[in-house]
Amino acid sequence: MNTEELLKYDREHIWHPYTSTIDPLPVFPVKRAEGVYIELEDGRRLIDGMSSWWCEIHGYNNPTLNEALYKQIENMSHVMFGGFTHRPAVELAEKILSIAPEGMDKIFFSDSGSVSVEVAMKMAIQYWYAAGKEEKKHFMTITKGYHGDTWNAMSVCDPVTGMHGIFHGCLPIQYFIDRPERRFGEVCIEEDFRELRSCFEAHHADMAAVILEPIVQGAGGMWFYSADYLKEVRRLCNEYGVLLICDEIATGFGRTGKLWAVDYAGISPDIMCIGKAITGGYMSFAATMTTDAVATVICSRDPFVFMHGPTFMGNPLTCAVACASIDLLTGYDLEGMIKGIERQLCRELSPAALMKQVADVRVLGAIGVLEMKEPVNMAVLQAKFVEEGIWVRPFGKLVYIMPPFVIKPAELSKLTAGLLKIVSEI
Ligand SMILES: *Cc1c(COP(=O)(O)O)cnc(C)c1O
Repeated sequence: MNTEELLKYDREHIWHPYTSTIDPLPVFPVKRAEGVYIELEDGRRLIDGMSSWWCEIHGYNNPTLNEALYKQIENMSHVMFGGFTHRPAVELAEKILSIAPEGMDKIFFSDSGSVSVEVAMKMAIQYWYAAGKEEKKHFMTITKGYHGDTWNAMSVCDPVTGMHGIFHGCLPIQYFIDRPERRFGEVCIEEDFRELRSCFEAHHADMAAVILEPIVQGAGGMWFYSADYLKEVRRLCNEYGVLLICDEIATGFGRTGKLWAVDYAGISPDIMCIGKAITGGYMSFAATMTTDAVATVICSRDPFVFMHGPTFMGNPLTCAVACASIDLLTGYDLEGMIKGIERQLCRELSPAALMKQVADVRVLGAIGVLEMKEPVNMAVLQAKFVEEGIWVRPFGKLVYIMPPFVIKPAELSKLTAGLLKIVSEI
């Protein structure tokens, strides 16, 4: 197949994320990728501003991660996790739990972020079932959140920008309160907690858990909120007997400037989801962690087991690359590295605040966001970014970048300059 035939077949037969088969958005054929560069079939090289959706933190085609895979593939690529265990899984569990927020003691491996959210929600429900409080089966969350595309994950995504319109009536009913408007770095006042507190008061009796993305809301709006709010959620969960699920699938592994976003609030959740960067962007993988206390209750009532077990659970190849990725990460001066990116993003993106098209500019860790006044035309903008030699994929009013951690200052400057140039032409 030449490139034209490839694109034709793709257009006629393959569904891409959130696209139409009748009028698909254009796609660019990638030949290979290395470091922070993505190379197209026609030879053009793009600086990656997306880390392939938060994942590719060490850059593409990383020799250390490649090596971990070559070594593991010679032993075994896969073996069932029912009745078997293996070194890559045990080593990975040990590596993650030793750096996880305080109290995380049990880990459940799964295939993707959405599945890890399903697992977290099932843990919460099964916990209350085992504790003899079967009425506690609803979840509370904040608007503009994103937790994945599977059924229950979808039920706690933003009800407007999520998929509730189409699936209304089929989804379990959850409690939504407005996202915290108090920005990251600001101190909350009493008024900021009003809706949160009244929701706890009204619904705690049938609430299993609060689920949210700590500090940074990703795909639902790229919003950074006050750590005080997260602290208050933790306090209220304790006061009212409600579990706290933190979805760190996007924020985990340093993206926000701390290893975990919950570190900004100095809290620990009862259940935590991680994914995306877990394998350094090599393969789909995720995990759900919980405390000994929660796990013990779950396993104390008939059926005395946690009811979930994916076919590819704990896949050795994936565990091996995740181990190597975490070793790389813990070998970096991570906070210093992200601070450097953050400073440069602040400096180089701040001029955009003066553009009439731009409503807000915000930066946290290795995440830089331009919120536009009007929704942008994704297909048009994406093609222009490619012309500039950068890869940026905006959505709605948001034009944002979250580059690989290993990006060099000159490469990041090229990325931000291209971004500002195209945005200024809108
Ligand atoms: C991406 C994402 C998910 C879903 O993960 P998938 O691997 O795409 O299923 C869930 N929660 C958050 C916060 C995410 O960013």
